[in-house]
Amino acid sequence: MQDRHIGDVRVTRIEEQMGPGFPAKDFFPEFDADTFAAEQHWLAPSYYQPESGKLMTSIHSWLVRTGKHTVLIDACSGNHKPRPGMPRFDMLDSPWLDRLAAAGARPEDIDIVMCTHLHFDHDGWNTQLRDGRWVPTFPNARYLMSRTDHAHWEAAAKNPQTPAFERNTYNDSVLPVIEAGKAVLVDDGHACDDCLTVRAADGHTPGHVRVDLASRDRRAVFSGDALHNPVQVPLWRWNSTFCVDRDRARQSRHAILSHCAESGALLLPAHFGTPHAARIRARGDSFELDWDWERR
Ligand SMILES: [Zn+2]
Repeated sequence: MQDRHIGDVRVTRIEEQMGPGFPAKDFFPEFDADTFAAEQHWLAPSYYQPESGKLMTSIHSWLVRTGKHTVLIDACSGNHKPRPGMPRFDMLDSPWLDRLAAAGARPEDIDIVMCTHLHFDHDGWNTQLRDGRWVPTFPNARYLMSRTDHAHWEAAAKNPQTPAFERNTYNDSVLPVIEAGKAVLVDDGHACDDCLTVRAADGHTPGHVRVDLASRDRRAVFSGDALHNPVQVPLWRWNSTFCVDRDRARQSRHAILSHCAESGALLLPAHFGTPHAARIRARGDSFELDWDWERR
């Protein structure tokens, strides 16, 4: 495990799992076989598995030590959580907390948890099972959640038409945090810390946010699921099947990539394979990646 240093801020990736996920042809609503085939030479094996046709997906958190606060950005899937119909995320028993400890952070050290959105693979470790109850994993943390996203998932959890894995996600990973009085609902522009600012990046979910980091003259963007796979850098018009508002998702993706290209910000998405982060260059009306291989 290696750290990245962005200005005075130390960023460490905490992995939950890495492996083949959804088939590419099913995952992108705009999928076109010829367009995808033209990118395959650089996607395999880290970001695409040709033999199965599946995208390779990392599920990880970013541990961000600013000097003032220890911040966890996105909280993976969590353990022992029933996610019917989602076998890769159902009833996990992963050593994620041990990996967090190996990075030098105990649960009580986390000051702020910031979920970019409230999908099951971003808020799972918000809570853990203790004596048959879901309780906040990080006893001293404020849990920042997008106000818009929370309102959406709170309503969805009460709707019997909502898939069980999504109702479960709200009920076991969000509601216990609210009931414990540890949630803080935030809006566009919220400053988590002197160097971390929440920015609206909606479309993937109604209240999806990104988190912008600025320390001295260095920049980074924690982009959550505005992009899932690096092929969405050159093919930035391609959404994921989970993007609820495809036009807004595309606009948010373009805004992030433009910001990275103009400011030199390091792109730190939630699901990219090794080395998990890249700088972005504009190329005509598209973008290309400059991988951050020094730190994995
Ligand atoms: Zn995700």
